Amino acid sequence: MYDVIIAGGGPAGSIAAEKASRGGLSVLMLEKATYPRNKTCGGGVSQKALDVIGGIDKELIEREAFGARIFLPDYRNFAGMLDDRVAVMTRRENLDHWLARRAEDAGAVVQDGEGVKDVLFTGDYVEVVTSKDRYRSRMIIGSDGVNSTVARRSGIRTRWGADIGMCLEAEVELGETVVDECVEDRLVEFYFIEDRGYGWVFPKRDRISIGIGEFAPRVDDLKGSFNRFVRDVSVQKNIDIEGRISGINSYRIPAGGFERKIHGDRVLLAGDAAGFVDPFLGEGIYYALKSGEIAADVVAGAVESGDFSERFLQEYVTRCEKEFNHDLKSALKFANFAYGHRDLFLKALWRDKRLFMEYLRTARGDRTYTEFNRWCARRSPVTFAKLIVGR
Ligand SMILES: Cc1cc2nc3c(=O)[nH]c(=O)nc-3n(C[C@H](O)[C@H](O)[C@H](O)COP(=O)(O)OP(=O)(O)OC[C@H]3O[C@@H](n4cnc5c(N)ncnc54)[C@H](O)[C@@H]3O)c2cc1C
Repeated sequence: MYDVIIAGGGPAGSIAAEKASRGGLSVLMLEKATYPRNKTCGGGVSQKALDVIGGIDKELIEREAFGARIFLPDYRNFAGMLDDRVAVMTRRENLDHWLARRAEDAGAVVQDGEGVKDVLFTGDYVEVVTSKDRYRSRMIIGSDGVNSTVARRSGIRTRWGADIGMCLEAEVELGETVVDECVEDRLVEFYFIEDRGYGWVFPKRDRISIGIGEFAPRVDDLKGSFNRFVRDVSVQKNIDIEGRISGINSYRIPAGGFERKIHGDRVLLAGDAAGFVDPFLGEGIYYALKSGEIAADVVAGAVESGDFSERFLQEYVTRCEKEFNHDLKSALKFANFAYGHRDLFLKALWRDKRLFMEYLRTARGDRTYTEFNRWCARRSPVTFAKLIVGR
């Protein structure tokens, strides 16, 4: 019998497996796909996420971002850059494989190509049925992403509500020189062309990630929007991106900041399975890592005390709330304002350079959304003055 079985070996699962193993627990991590596996994602890893990982293999860094260029719906644009790095661009197949190997090095048993099919809860243990075998453990962490089997089989959540978004993304190989021409050095690009979401171009070493995403989708034809977006960007940059797309991936993304159940007797949900994603930016890797780390810690406490009850595991909810989930609620308030008054918000970012810089600092992790929202409230007279009189 394992102390904990971790279903899903993305960032949430791998960091949970690594931390739990280092804490002396016996750990089995089951990953449905075979490494290296891709996950539909921009692959942007913020500085605050890097801080949780505690450094990253240099080989994994495809490009660095110190700021962003923002495009308005009519493609007028402006850029802002910090002296400090905001994020690194990675390829998820490499990042996730590296994180899984770290878990293995820490002592976790990692079995890929083995998906969890069912989870049975008895009074004394958890029985996990996979595509290949059956295993027993004291606890299970569901880090199996947005379509979590563990969330469903444990009865924690049967389906998402209106708090789920959708993204379309393509990785387009352009060659290193064309990527250099395509996106300015040390910047990433955001295109605010949808009502409650955006398009992006993230440069990698020899390719770009180009995509479009919406929270609470109101676009009937996201594929049509994606095609128009790629065509427009191709024209703007005078680079044939459209003709070089070999495949488009679609994937769901949960919006964070909503009250949700994330635990039960002998079970915790982490990462996307728990819905921990920034509802403005769509950043999920940091929250996956943070929640995975906390889950491992709480499981260690449960094993030590021999108490696996929902009541004991409430500690997980409390710590997630304190360490980041309260802030995701502030992020949701910010997202509601920014997307609800999109044109005003974009104009304010453009006119008030300091506002833009403070947001970049928030995205980097130097301040929380709660602090940023307060700062914006204090700053609002200056921002409004700049809106009226120009820069
Ligand atoms: C298009 C798009 C772009 C994004 N861009 C960014 C970005 O640039 N930066 C950022 O921070 N976030 C981004 N996100 C969000 C980010 O991808 C997720 O929040 C993050 O991957 C969550 O990590 P996770 O470990 O919780 O889940 P995942 O990364 O989804 O990992 C879950 C793992 O579980 C496995 N699995 C699923 N079912 C089972 C099962 N039954 N049994 C065993 N294994 C199973 C899957 O194969 C997968 O490996 C983006 C999301 C989308 C959709």
